[in-house]
Amino acid sequence: MRFAPALFLIVLTTSSRAQTPPRDTLSIPDTAWLEIHFVDVGQGDAIWIRTWNDGVADNGRFDGRNITIDGGPNGSDGSNSFLKYIRERAQPDARFDAVIVSHPHDDHYPGALGVLRHYEVCNYYDGDTPNGSRFNQFLDTVRSEQCDGHPIRLHRGRTNFGTPDWGSELQVALLWGAPIDPTGMGSGGTLINNGSLVIKLTYGTQSFLFMGDAEGKERDDPATTPRYAEARLLSDSVTESRLKSTVLKIAHHGSETSSTLPFIRAVDPEVLVVSSGRESYSGTFLPDRSTLQRYCTHNPQVRIYRTDQDDAAEGRTAATDNDGDHVVIRTNGKRTEIVARSAGQPWTATACTP
Ligand SMILES: [Zn+2]
Repeated sequence: MRFAPALFLIVLTTSSRAQTPPRDTLSIPDTAWLEIHFVDVGQGDAIWIRTWNDGVADNGRFDGRNITIDGGPNGSDGSNSFLKYIRERAQPDARFDAVIVSHPHDDHYPGALGVLRHYEVCNYYDGDTPNGSRFNQFLDTVRSEQCDGHPIRLHRGRTNFGTPDWGSELQVALLWGAPIDPTGMGSGGTLINNGSLVIKLTYGTQSFLFMGDAEGKERDDPATTPRYAEARLLSDSVTESRLKSTVLKIAHHGSETSSTLPFIRAVDPEVLVVSSGRESYSGTFLPDRSTLQRYCTHNPQVRIYRTDQDDAAEGRTAATDNDGDHVVIRTNGKRTEIVARSAGQPWTATACTP
């Protein structure tokens, strides 16, 4: 039996802690919704961002842009729930301004192939982190992409990210990614995680921080002292003040290896989104309850939305966990609304529940 409350819209209004709005804020119409879809792909990240379309061509704003960050683990069309989700909702001739891969791990990039195969993609972004032949094959598909008859534009590596123009109403900032000097960033998978592109979007007074799998500590370290990418984000006072965000896509699926206390205080989110599934990592499933508890202790009012909502209770496995626990957030620059689902049914967070 599933609990399906009638109310499924959580409305957040701008608090007194809001950031300085960009110039364009006053001119964002109340109906100009920016949508961010966190798609349930099982274990992995798959995010689709849609800007509002005002129907006016060439005015440089509200152009109905499509952007993706990651795409989940399934590269083949038949099993790609990210592609299926987009095809059910996007125009068949939709164009994607940007396909972004936060870092080249298997739970993040393969699903982006669906977007590349079925839509025109104009720009591709990643951290230029090498990760073997399978990722190289993925890059071959990226390079063969055309947009308006021109080759796709590649923005690989931190210094090539630039300032994407997804409309003047939306501010885009790369806060971290792909360290040029990997000293202190760990090795192997940890080093790749710490090369995650960390991106912040600001729309009016509302802001969204996408962490990829950036880490802040070793699993058994105390949460008081940040290391790795979190230490670097917090070491720069300019970046630290920019971490404050309305919505945080939690780092590394809510693993204990991220979300140190100084980082949580700096971001101070009102909404937490966890992209995770039922993949066992040596007997551990993500998110770690201890990580979510730190956010609840910091702010008992924080709302946590998960793409593995109720999956453990439902007995789902890594093969059956992409069951429609999508989290859709929309904002008109003044307030943020959330429609979340559990196995396709409306679901709402009522308290901070780690
Ligand atoms: Zn991951």
